[in-house]
Amino acid sequence: MNKVLMFSTTSANAGIDLSSPVMRVLDSHWYVLGTEVSSFENEFAEYNGVRHCVSVANGTDALELGLRSLDIKAGDSVIVTANAGFYSSTAIHLIGAKPVYVDINPATHTLSVDALKEALEINVPKAIIVTHLYGQLAEIEDIIDLASKYGVPVVEDCAQSHGAMRNGKRTGSFGTIGCFSFYPTKNLGALGDGGAVITNDTAIAEKLRQYRQYGWSSKYCVDLPGGRNSRLDEMQAAILREKLTHLERQNTERRDIARKYNKAFEKFPLICPISLDDDYVAHLYVVQVSKRDEFRSFLNEQGIMTDTHYPIPDHLQKAYVCEQKIGSLPLTEAACDKVVSLPCFPGMAGEDVERVISVVTLYFKSIGE
Ligand SMILES: *Cc1c(COP(=O)(O)O)cnc(C)c1O
Repeated sequence: MNKVLMFSTTSANAGIDLSSPVMRVLDSHWYVLGTEVSSFENEFAEYNGVRHCVSVANGTDALELGLRSLDIKAGDSVIVTANAGFYSSTAIHLIGAKPVYVDINPATHTLSVDALKEALEINVPKAIIVTHLYGQLAEIEDIIDLASKYGVPVVEDCAQSHGAMRNGKRTGSFGTIGCFSFYPTKNLGALGDGGAVITNDTAIAEKLRQYRQYGWSSKYCVDLPGGRNSRLDEMQAAILREKLTHLERQNTERRDIARKYNKAFEKFPLICPISLDDDYVAHLYVVQVSKRDEFRSFLNEQGIMTDTHYPIPDHLQKAYVCEQKIGSLPLTEAACDKVVSLPCFPGMAGEDVERVISVVTLYFKSIGE
């Protein structure tokens, strides 16, 4: 029997016309920073209800250049969660700034408002990064209220939450900036790498346009230090324009799978995603289970692929010395030991969803639950 995969680009791109965008670029003979890029930026800004979108080469660059556009410098502290795959930490370290890790709300896997409150009383950082992990919008309104009291800008990491919304407002439009990745498995995925920053702040957008192109103010005039080459290319922009028109449908498909899982798993000792509303776009369907390794190998033996997002919290990664030791983020550490992601992606066959459900059911039967 076929394996049930964690993601399939074949399924996710089925029925989407990718040839026309590619042909358009081939016929134009223009490959970098042309009309496809500017059109995509306009269309993505409009979709998110913001004034500006500046595309870059990938999501990590979006975070790093985004932080630079807020004047974050070496030695500055940035508050961030430790359960989101080290991407934000990478961006913070690239600047030489210092991550200050704050615990999560285990129900949403996003930054805990209470823990943030405590952290701000101890030390006011230069920025706060909020990751809408697994596609779940964080308690972003409360976080922004709190941050504004201290005058701290909020960076939204929207690499897993394209399209998520609450009260008509989209992910990335709440904070000072919103950072996106268009890696192929993301809710809005290119056929390669890509990223973008969205903002309502014109000065920040201008700075980002300089950072992504050598710090130029105009051709060959380097006015801004810290610039580099980080551009989305025309081919990816053309593809993203087409894929953007499918984002709502694909988010609905993802959420429908999550809904089936949540319903089927109600009776089992599993902690399932808390929301099935517009504020959750099911980038990953993550449950918490106590004997994670046994659970995963049982599913693997039955041909169901799973993954762990993410097994090692950022403060315990070996590459960087961190003052925060094991035990300093109890809720983050507990979640890291229990999270497991089940297959959930657009175009996933209905029978595969049913297979996942029956194998999970079989697992709990086998352990007498
Ligand atoms: C994928 C991802 C990124 C990084 O994006 P890249 O395009 O791979 O650099 C950042 N943050 C989160 C939460 C992600 O999932």
